[in-house]
Amino acid sequence: MTRKYETDLIVIGAGPAGYTAAIYAARANLKPILVTGLQPGGQLTITTDVENYPGFAAPIQGPWLMEQMHAQAETVGTRMVTDLVTTCEDLGDDKPLRFRFTGDSGDVYLAKTAVIATGAQAKWLGLPSETRLQGAGVSACATCDGFFFRGKHVAVIGGGNTAVEEALYLTRHADKVTLIHRRDTLRAERIMQERLFADPKIDILWNRSVDDILSDGTPPTVSGLRLKNLQKNTLETLAVDGVFIAIGHQPNTAPFLDFVSCDAEGYITTPPGSTRTSRPGIFAAGDVQDRVFRQAVTAAGTGCMAALEAERFIAGES
Ligand code: NDP
Repeated sequence: MTRKYETDLIVIGAGPAGYTAAIYAARANLKPILVTGLQPGGQLTITTDVENYPGFAAPIQGPWLMEQMHAQAETVGTRMVTDLVTTCEDLGDDKPLRFRFTGDSGDVYLAKTAVIATGAQAKWLGLPSETRLQGAGVSACATCDGFFFRGKHVAVIGGGNTAVEEALYLTRHADKVTLIHRRDTLRAERIMQERLFADPKIDILWNRSVDDILSDGTPPTVSGLRLKNLQKNTLETLAVDGVFIAIGHQPNTAPFLDFVSCDAEGYITTPPGSTRTSRPGIFAAGDVQDRVFRQAVTAAGTGCMAALEAERFIAGES
């Protein structure tokens, strides 16, 4: 049997943005419902040490930080629902509960306002071999799968903070890590680069793209990479036991693309200094609308902004 939920404010997504929006909304007595999606905690649940979230002198663990935010949101009065929002509708501004969302479960959520905080997820290269070998040597999460490469040689693809962080993490398990980047400079922060260059277990191959992921055995597992040397325009082979793809993220906005304005890559557009979307009463916070900073602390900040703006929206209506 499907259930019907009614609330002033629905928060969609359970990362730092969603939890923070829920904490502020609950404290403003909006009795928020937070629909968590399939990966409560978001990207921080697949990270390890967090050294840059203010307030903690020693490194903390990403999943622990998310558990704390979840508990805090619940303690101040948020109702948590495990579901995945799949459709959204604007019933019109003559309705007191103007927005109608449905979940994967078939349950219905009616709300005066909504904060979309569904985050982003890892991008893939798009090679057929990459899809075929997921779970057989191809991964996008070193903290989830690094353990399986004890004593082995692994490659990490990418040149941003994620790639560098994954490479450094993998040295805890693998004997050798090769970072492969398509240019000759990294995008990662300088402090991360310094750690990378200083690590004796890590090699870097510059100006290379992945042409194919090679496999052998029955069932097949990763045995190497066919790389394209972008300077010489030649192909070369590198023997590795695993490959970690760390080439950035894409926003989780599929259900919202026709509901609010999004840019060419699917990020929800909001004006500077606000979390307002193109549809009055709908706000967006965190990585789903931030292609620039994408930090836990900035996501939490915009989550706070979204709850305050939603509160004002409701006050202006009544
Ligand atoms: P980024 O977008 O910063 O970097 C993606 C990297 O992948 C770039 O080096 C890019 O190359 C490369 N790339 C993209 N597409 C391809 C492709 N098809 N083939 C090969 N290489 C490709 O993403 P990140 O996930 O690294 O970081 C996202 C955000 O999260 C950033 O703002 C980052 O600072 C932040 N972050 C912060 C952390 C921390 O503070 N501890 C940890 C992890 C992330 P090119 O450089 O040539 O464009």
